[in-house]
Amino acid sequence: MPFCQSLRVPCETKFFLLHSDAWAARLMKLIILDRDGVINEDSDAYIKSPDEWKPLSGSLEAIARLNRAGYRVVVATNQSGIGRGLLNLETLNRIHSKMQRMVQEAGGLIDAVFFCPDTDEANPYRKPHPGMLLEIGRRLHCDLRGVPVVGDSVRDIRAARAANAWPLLVRTGKGRRTLEQETEISAHVLVFDNLAAVASYLIKPAMAT
Ligand SMILES: [Mg+2]
Repeated sequence: MPFCQSLRVPCETKFFLLHSDAWAARLMKLIILDRDGVINEDSDAYIKSPDEWKPLSGSLEAIARLNRAGYRVVVATNQSGIGRGLLNLETLNRIHSKMQRMVQEAGGLIDAVFFCPDTDEANPYRKPHPGMLLEIGRRLHCDLRGVPVVGDSVRDIRAARAANAWPLLVRTGKGRRTLEQETEISAHVLVFDNLAAVASYLIKPAMAT
C-alpha cells in the first residue's frame, strides 16, 4: 500500500463521507499533482531535507487558485529516496509539513500526500504503475476519468493513462527532458510551461483570480 499523509483524507480508517455527501463526492473536482518538478524544484540527488525543498515560482499560488476554483488537491509522489536510505519517514514528514505550511501561507490547501517509498520498479503503487492514483480515487470515492494528473516525467504520464485519468505534462523539473526523450508524449498530451499555466487552463476565465 502507498503511504498517505493527510489533512482531510483518513488513511487507514473508514472514509469520512456521510451518505448525504455522496453527491458531493461525485461532483467533487479533484486534481492530482506529482511533487518534485511540479510543485518544487527537482533534484537528481533527491530532496532529502526541508531545506532542499524549494517551491517552483508560482506553484503555491497555483494550488491556491485551484482550491478557490473548487479543486481538491492531492499529491502523488514516488519517494524511493526512503527505500534507498537517503532520508527517513520523519524527515519526509518534516518536508511535507514545510510544503503544507507554505501552501497554506499562499492561501491553499493540499488535502493529502500519497507516496511510495519503495525502490522496486514492480511495486504496483510506484509510478508508472497506476496503483497510487487508483488508491486516491478509491479513498476519495472519485472516478478518475477526466481527473487531471500533472507530472513532469513519463512515469506520471503512463500512470495517469493506466488509471484512466487525464495526463498533463509541465515543462518544469524534468519536463523539458521528458519532451525531448519521449516521443509518445508530444502528440497526445497537453503540455504547459508550469503549474500556474495548468491552473489557468483548468479554471474558467470568469473564475480566474
Ligand atoms: Mg516529478
